[in-house]
Order: sequence, then C-alpha cells, then structure tokens
Amino acid sequence: NGITKEEVLQQVAENDVKFIRTQFTDTLGIIKSWAIPAEDLEGAFKDGVMFDGSSIEGFARIEESDMMLMPDPSTFRILPWRPKEGSVARIIGDVKKPDGTPFEGDPRYVLKQAMDDAAKMGYTMNVGPELEFFLFKLDAEGNPTTHLTDHGGYFDFAPLDKAQDVRRDIDFALEVMGFKLEASHHEVAPSQHEINFRFGDMLSTADKVITFKYVAKSIAYHKGYYISFMPKPLFGVNGSGMHTNQSLMMNGKNAFYDSDAPNGLSQTSMYYIGGMLKYIREFAAVTNSTVNSYKRLVPGYEAPIYVTWSASNRSSLIRIPATRGIGTRVELRCPDPACNPYLAFALMLRAGLDGIKNKIEPPEATNVNIFKLSEEERAKRGIQSLPGSLKEALDLMRGSKFTKEALGEHVFNGFLKAKNAEWDSYKSQVHQWELDNYLSIL
Ligand code: GLN
Ligand code: MG
Ligand code: MG
Ligand code: MG
Repeated sequence: NGITKEEVLQQVAENDVKFIRTQFTDTLGIIKSWAIPAEDLEGAFKDGVMFDGSSIEGFARIEESDMMLMPDPSTFRILPWRPKEGSVARIIGDVKKPDGTPFEGDPRYVLKQAMDDAAKMGYTMNVGPELEFFLFKLDAEGNPTTHLTDHGGYFDFAPLDKAQDVRRDIDFALEVMGFKLEASHHEVAPSQHEINFRFGDMLSTADKVITFKYVAKSIAYHKGYYISFMPKPLFGVNGSGMHTNQSLMMNGKNAFYDSDAPNGLSQTSMYYIGGMLKYIREFAAVTNSTVNSYKRLVPGYEAPIYVTWSASNRSSLIRIPATRGIGTRVELRCPDPACNPYLAFALMLRAGLDGIKNKIEPPEATNVNIFKLSEEERAKRGIQSLPGSLKEALDLMRGSKFTKEALGEHVFNGFLKAKNAEWDSYKSQVHQWELDNYLSIL
C-alpha cells in the first residue's frame, strides 16, 4: 500500500496512538524492536532513529556501531491486540549508516538489491509463502511447552480442532494488519496449523512473514497459548515448512507461462528452476538455518530431501502447482519458517535469475516417488541430496561464490560466524538420544 508519511501521522492522531514500535530484523531473522513516543515519529521520518548496532547479531563492530533506522511509512500498522485508547502501532524500517547511506548488513537492503537487479532485466517477482506452525500449551509459569492443544489432522474441523478459535482470532488480527487471507486450516500433525495469505512483491511479503510470526505469537500468548515456528518441534510427526511459491512477471505477464510450450511452462521457467536447483545446496543454510531444520528434512514427513523438480510430485524439492496462465508458479518446498525471509527470498530470486542469464537447463523432471528409488537408481539419475545437517550446509555455503555475492560480504561473513558458533554449541552437548541408546549398554 502506498501510504504516505502524512497519512501515517494523521492515523496516529486520529487513533490516539501513544507509542510506535520501530522494527527491523537481524541477520538471523530475529525481530529487533524498540518503542518511541508518537510525537517523535515526525522527526524519525525526517532524520531516522539512532541506535547502537554493536550488540545485534551479524551487525556492526563496536567501533562503527552507530546506526540509524529510517521508518518505512508503508509498513505502519496499529496493533489490534492493544487497547483502543492509548494504542500502539509498529513500523518497519531500513537500517542506515549515520551518513544516511544503506547499511550492507541490513537484510532488507540485501533483498532490495536483488529486486533491483531483477528490475534491470525487466522482471518483478511475486512470492507467496505458506507458513506452518504448532499451537502449544504454556506451563503454569507461562513458559512454552510442547504439550498438544488438539489431536486433529489435515483439514480437520471442530470438535477435534479445539484450537480453531485461537486461529480465528489470529485470522482477524492479520486482516486488520493488512493481510488478505486465502486459507486457514489444520495441518497434518496434531496441534499444527497453516494460514495462507495472498502473494505480493518480495519486500512487502518478507515484511509480512515477520509480521505474521509476531501477530500469531502475540495473539496466541494473549489467549494463554504458545505458537512455535520451530521447524521440527516433535519427533515422529510432520515438521513445519514455509513452502515458497514464486512467479516471475514481465510487463504484467507471467514469464513462467507459455501456452505453446509443453505443459504450459516457458523456457524462462525452466532456466529459473535450473538456477535454483544448481545453487540450493549452497544456500540451504539460509533457507534452513537452524540445527533443528535438518530434523525436518528426513523421509516420511512430506518434506523434501532430494534436489529434484516435478510438475506433480510432492516428494520433489520444487513442485509446479497445476494452475497455469497468470497464476503459473514454482513452489520451493525446503524453506522453513525459522529462516530470515529477506535473505531467503533474495537468494531464491538471484539463483533463478542466474539460471535465466546463463541458460541453465534443469535436470529431467522426476515424476516418480523419489523416496521409492534405491540409492543406485538415484545415482544413475544424478539426483543429489540437500545437506543433511546445519554443519554440512554451512560448509557448502562457505565455499559458495554465488551465495557470497548474493548476500554481500558483510551478511555472508556475519551469518557464517553466528551459525558456526550455533553448530559448535550444539555439537558439544550430550543429547538425550545418546543417553537412551548408550548409557545402559556401554
Ligand atoms: N509439513 C510439511 C513440510 O514440512 C508440508 C505438508 C504440506 O503442506 N502438505 O513441508
Ligand atoms: Mg499449503
Ligand atoms: Mg502445508
Ligand atoms: Mg505447499
């Protein structure tokens, strides 16, 4: 929406907004936020808001830590779960250096640059992410647990879907926050849900992913529940993904569609898929960015493992949903909702554009259930696997010229440093599985 600074200030006055939560995300996709009094907003639009970036993950070193947040008026929203009088709003901003130039470590800036490059080729990208999550109980102290709130399954309706009034409240809040919802349903696992909203350009959609998680968690918490976007919180049932539907537009037409091509898929779409498949192993550390992400990417839970594409088959990493014409799209199925959406979208787009520029043909579509193929059959077809752990993903990323260029050195180095530390901390722990399997026999 093209809301201007003046309109924002008018809304602030009309709705008795007292505080504005200014927000941005760090390299790891974690929301950073602080409140400013409403009367300071006008000045913030002009001069930005200063903050200390030195303690923010992947941001600045002590000696260059002065940062500025420039609020983006189009992201202004009044928070519907706060009281009507003395209400609270939030606004997302761009991170700048004190001289006003963009800060290379700002994930929003990384995405904007990828979008600019697409625009130079004549393209704009629409994305539609599908976020899945679990609704759990809080314990007596108000801390999150993994205790289930229902035993429902895919598309189940009341009375099994007890959590549906929480989901309905989230749906209402999202609509007030400017989302256009398309579907809201129970997912396959007990206590697991999915809410889909309408696709849009990459920047406003990445903002929406961040907002979505914030709204869902806030509403659930107010109702006495906890929502988690952890990729695999429970062993033995489906994890939570963030399938990302992508369609590339040129002059108002869908560049992935060609009515004369076999099954309606243009040569451009083939190259786009070729590019994503070529680079996905090198940037999986960003789309699947936690130790836990790789516990989702295992056989048996509708999550991808092999680097394949298909027009029908849901076991593929890339699927082409049946819609053709303006709605033709490519669905990448590995990302999970813990990822930094700005960086993940930037990488998907750049990988696809690289495929178009360099005419990268994808391998043949895999129209069989890949999980039924033997290791030899997969090897014969040249089918590769996604990285099996965060460690493997980080090693692949470290050697990737593509990922380094797409993220820029600042984000690339900061991300690797933080995530390697995360892996090292995990690696040295003694896990319950080891005690269960070794203690009594060794
Ligand atoms: N939860 C599955 C995943 O991990 C997806 C299930 C579905 O949407 N069909 O990706
Ligand atoms: Mg879905
Ligand atoms: Mg789903
Ligand atoms: Mg899907």
